[in-house]
Amino acid sequence: MYEQSKKLFEQAKNVIPGGVNSPVRAFKGVGGTPLFMKSAKGAYLYDVDGNRYIDYINSWGPMILGHAYEPVIDAIKEYAGYSTSFGAPTELETKIAELIVSMVPNIDMVRMVNSGTEACMSAMRVARGYTGRNKFIKFTGNYHGHADAFLVNAGSGVATLGIQSVPGVTQTVAEDTLTVPYNNLPAVENLVKEYPDQIAAIIVEPVAGNMGCILPQQGFLDGLRYICDEHNILLIFDEVMTGFRLARGGVQELFNIKADLVTFGKIIGAGMPVGAFAGRKEIMENVAPAGKVYQAGTLSGNPIAMIAGYTLLQTLNDNPDIYRQLAEKTAYLSGGLQSVLNAAGIVHQVNSIGSMLSVHFAEYPIIDFDAASGANNELFRRFFHSMLEKGIYLPPSAFESWFVSNALTIEDLDATIAAAKSAIESLK
Ligand code: PMP
Repeated sequence: MYEQSKKLFEQAKNVIPGGVNSPVRAFKGVGGTPLFMKSAKGAYLYDVDGNRYIDYINSWGPMILGHAYEPVIDAIKEYAGYSTSFGAPTELETKIAELIVSMVPNIDMVRMVNSGTEACMSAMRVARGYTGRNKFIKFTGNYHGHADAFLVNAGSGVATLGIQSVPGVTQTVAEDTLTVPYNNLPAVENLVKEYPDQIAAIIVEPVAGNMGCILPQQGFLDGLRYICDEHNILLIFDEVMTGFRLARGGVQELFNIKADLVTFGKIIGAGMPVGAFAGRKEIMENVAPAGKVYQAGTLSGNPIAMIAGYTLLQTLNDNPDIYRQLAEKTAYLSGGLQSVLNAAGIVHQVNSIGSMLSVHFAEYPIIDFDAASGANNELFRRFFHSMLEKGIYLPPSAFESWFVSNALTIEDLDATIAAAKSAIESLK
């Protein structure tokens, strides 16, 4: 069933570390051979062996309307004809910045970069430059990309591979990263007391997607906002996953909570390598060349990436009903999965919000990284493979969120629920 993928994986391992260009793709968390893809359209992926899958990864988030969304593809084709890069400003960069500023609350200015990692790394530099402080607080199991300072108690692939401390990240850098459990305000308060006037920022996934999908508990984000205001700390919402996904304006809009800096990735580039960070003018004017916080990129604002992102964002902006449809589909899927698991008598938690969800085999609520780690992740591994055999492509780790795209039909969701039923029966 996976012959070509197996062959290509062996070949890749000779010349690419671990055979992949980003760790989670290697299926390390679940074992087996990663599938090499050939094409995708709408809700479906096609691998090199000719198998079709219903996709719940969606390139880890960007494909909110499904793969090869025609207006995006057409726009890319048109713009590719004008040159793939100028290294000079284009009108399009202002247009996408204006659109982003109009969609997202509490931001006046935005700087485009090439990945979520760059967005978070740069936002933190701005926070440090603006406050003149060095330390920051992050939450265990949150992932903010692979810049040195964020690789302390990180989620996603770092958690999947069980790497406690990353070789190459110096002790000096790691010392400025303070970590506490997600959803734990008292732990944040203690750190703030312990390091008075030393903390530049609190960075948080306002809905976490890198240890499964974990929701902020009532009062958690408000509490962070309050603590930041009391101590002149900047609150950074890492909306790389949630931005333009949970609402047009992301979690700031959804829960009506104001962040000082926001980072984006994924949907903002419609699958092209794009990220961005944004904030109020007073903070963003510190970024070079307006200010002294240096940040740059040869390919930043790349015209092909910009037109792809602009086209997708415009569609989302003009059709807010998409968010209602996504939430309905996700609720339908979550409900279906819960019925199947209840009927089979398997303890489980289905965490979901908007178009994100995750399934954890545990009897207690999954509210932080320890809870996600303590679930029956061996059962998840077997569930994953059984679903894959049935043509359902789930994230290959319990420490990742599933993403629902609007290309999914009710028939696709029913097929997924039916596959889950037979997968669970075979695993009992
Ligand atoms: N922040 C969050 C919340 C993410 O989910 C990710 C990637 N999954 C990143 C940052 C890093 O983005 P990138 O992989 O584009 O560097």
